[in-house]
Amino acid sequence: MYPQRYRIICAFISIAAFAIAASLFVFGFSKIAAGSASLRNVTPYGFILLTLGFILIWQGVGSVWGLVFFILSAPLIMLVSLSLNSLIYNFQIIIMIGIAIPSYLFYKKSNALLLEEDQKISRIQEEKNLLDDRLEKDAELTEALYFKLDRYNKLKDLGEAFNAKLSLDEIYELTIDKAYEIIGKTDEAKLFLVTEDARDLVLYSCKSKQITASPSKKSDIFDKWVFNKRQPLQISDITCDFRFDYKQNKEKPQFNSLIIVPLIIQHRIIGILRLGSKEKGAYAADDLRLLDFISDLASAAINNARLYIKTGELAITDSLTGLYVHRYFKEKLTEEFNLCKEEESKLSILMLDIDHFKDYNDKYGHAAGDKVLKGITDIMRENTTETDILARYGGEEFVVLLPGEGKEKAKSIAENIRKDIEFTPFILRRQETKITVSAGVASFPDDASNEEDLFKKMDFSLYKAKKEGRNKVCTS
Ligand code: GH3
Ligand code: MG
Ligand code: MG
Repeated sequence: MYPQRYRIICAFISIAAFAIAASLFVFGFSKIAAGSASLRNVTPYGFILLTLGFILIWQGVGSVWGLVFFILSAPLIMLVSLSLNSLIYNFQIIIMIGIAIPSYLFYKKSNALLLEEDQKISRIQEEKNLLDDRLEKDAELTEALYFKLDRYNKLKDLGEAFNAKLSLDEIYELTIDKAYEIIGKTDEAKLFLVTEDARDLVLYSCKSKQITASPSKKSDIFDKWVFNKRQPLQISDITCDFRFDYKQNKEKPQFNSLIIVPLIIQHRIIGILRLGSKEKGAYAADDLRLLDFISDLASAAINNARLYIKTGELAITDSLTGLYVHRYFKEKLTEEFNLCKEEESKLSILMLDIDHFKDYNDKYGHAAGDKVLKGITDIMRENTTETDILARYGGEEFVVLLPGEGKEKAKSIAENIRKDIEFTPFILRRQETKITVSAGVASFPDDASNEEDLFKKMDFSLYKAKKEGRNKVCTS
């Protein structure tokens, strides 16, 4: 097919040529009728225009219209030929047939070429569309890949950050910050940890879009579901999730979408990590998987930090009583003594020794003796404060360092401990047994000006208490 524009132009020209030819005929006939011209004079012009119109019709509109034109023209020519009494004018019909045949062949050939061209163009167009489609998909895939790569890099950074020696609080903060940042789309991120009795969840860290809004510290039915089932949870619209009656929550739910994962260490749940969004369907399955991965990293980091703390504690505490060991106590004594000297404040020290402890051990056994040691530790703790430093100095000897306390106060603390022990019945082998202790007290700066002397004075006071009959507190 010829291009549309070309065909329209040809059609117009043809119609115009035909119209002119017709007008000339009409004009010519009118002249003929008036006797001022003969048909013979105008006929050649008419035929020229007729031929021109015929060619253009063939080329412009097509063979069908060319044929129609020919059928209409032939009787006209014959009529002219008859009226001029000359058969030679019929030669015009042969001319037109002569034009029609090559025109038809040309038209057919060019049509075939055009068709082929058209098919080629539509094939190319199709391929182009396919390529465009693929390009669009590739662009989407590249974008998704970059997005995943970015998340992967952030996860890698998080893993490395967790490897640094962080405190537990730092780990909690980092977990929440990174979960909020890496997953995105979140209005509030929360980290709950399981209480020591493993019955409840306590909020440890929170990050929220609205800084002013105070987050609820309580866990809701969704958190509890994850806590009880120890499984990740994804909710796209909390009002439509058949598993939960969200109205059970005392507080009106602030979020429509939630993803929550448990934090698990050695098959034991230690907490939950939760992200919430006000948008419905904010999170995809990929986000839940990623959050689960973050929770695994966080769990491992929390476990390591706890083990690190525990190892540190084990190195400085006595396994039976939980009090500081001799070595650590000595370090603390030096530290506190120097501090008190610098600040010119007081420092007292008292030592307790169980009276005739060997006899109890011999009579009731070593396990019963251990029970006494633990009982005495409890009594010492009840009579001292958080700032006081308690230690198991030797087998059945205990020391208490009292920073800031003078001699009188130290003596009264020692006396209280002594009395409490004396009047606390210890049940050893189902027998109520009485235990007593002797104590020696010394104070800085009243009794000594240096650490060694202070310790010697205290030791001497204890020796004095033992010598004076035991179950007694002596000072220097
Ligand atoms: P004293 O009144 O003179 O202090 O007499 P004592 O028997 O308490 O003194 P001694 O130093 O002779 O005995 C201390 C005993 O403490 C010896 C040991 O059997 C006991 N002992 C030391 N460490 C432990 C312990 O960890 N557990 C138990 N059950 N007994 C211990
Ligand atoms: Mg002793
Ligand atoms: Mg003793």
